[in-house]
Amino acid sequence: KDVGKRTFRVFSSDMDNRVSEYVWLDINLRKALDAEDQLVLYYQPKLCLKTGVVRSVEALLRWNSPERGRIQPLDFIPYAEDSGLIVPLGRWVMRSAAKQAAIWKARGLDLRIAINMSARQLSSSTVVQDFVEALRQAGQAGCQLDIELTESCLINDEALAHAVIRQFRDLGAQVHLDDFGTGYSSLSQLARLPLDAIKLDRSFISSINDNATSQALVRSMVAVAQQLKFGVIAEGVETEAEAEFLKDIDVDDAQGYLYSRPMPAREFEEWLNNKGK
Ligand code: C2E
Ligand code: CA
Ligand code: CA
Ligand code: CA
Repeated sequence: KDVGKRTFRVFSSDMDNRVSEYVWLDINLRKALDAEDQLVLYYQPKLCLKTGVVRSVEALLRWNSPERGRIQPLDFIPYAEDSGLIVPLGRWVMRSAAKQAAIWKARGLDLRIAINMSARQLSSSTVVQDFVEALRQAGQAGCQLDIELTESCLINDEALAHAVIRQFRDLGAQVHLDDFGTGYSSLSQLARLPLDAIKLDRSFISSINDNATSQALVRSMVAVAQQLKFGVIAEGVETEAEAEFLKDIDVDDAQGYLYSRPMPAREFEEWLNNKGK
């Protein structure tokens, strides 16, 4: 009986913690969306492996909470997806990225910005409208935004997902499949996808130089993507050896700490300047 009681108490306080964390996130994420300056996009460059040229960057969301300091996306995005707050949050990301793209273009920088989009966001009825509105607000002809989607975006209604992807592509966005190899889509599903490129997940890249199996796996994934005429981007590249291997098998672009961590816009511009020197 004693043990039962104790177990219950532990369980109960665990629940309390989770519930109060949920409440904290809900209240404060809403505030952050109003305050605006608590949310920041960081940018991580993607380099062409053949030429070293930076053709595009990935926008990664950061939250500076006045109460808790820097909060990483994995600590609030899953919650935002659950609660639906990912829709206004995603709208904020689109608008900020479109604005930044316009600023860079005005300075003569030829850069595309890839934004991440969650399943819940993709299936919201306003997502294409929101995207168009973000481009319009940035006041720019053409579209420099690309979209990174995960396989979970395709689960609920594949036909609808395809239709939305086509609309994005018609607007001038490239669509990339994120975390490639970690989901469960079949090859035939993949072949049907209206995609521009796939992004190899970091988990495959980090073991390339540790074992032959990983190398074989990456080789096969890249071969499949190339057969389907998709571009290939590798994320999480940390060593020269990894980059060499990827270059040898004709991966197009690479992104990772080897080149740079994600940085605020200003810092990224400096990094780009120094790179040219
Ligand atoms: P992701 O889309 O797979 O993004 C790549 C993650 O790997 C980023 O983590 C990035 O900082 C990290 N990374 C890049 N290169 C390296 C490397 O060489 N080594 C290591 N160890 N890590 C590397 P981050 O910024 O913490 O983002 C985590 C996830 O949060 C993202 O994974 C994405 O799923 C989600 N996320 C971030 N921003 C947004 C957003 O604006 N909207 C949505 N829906 N999701 C976002
Ligand atoms: Ca991504
Ligand atoms: Ca990933
Ligand atoms: Ca590694």
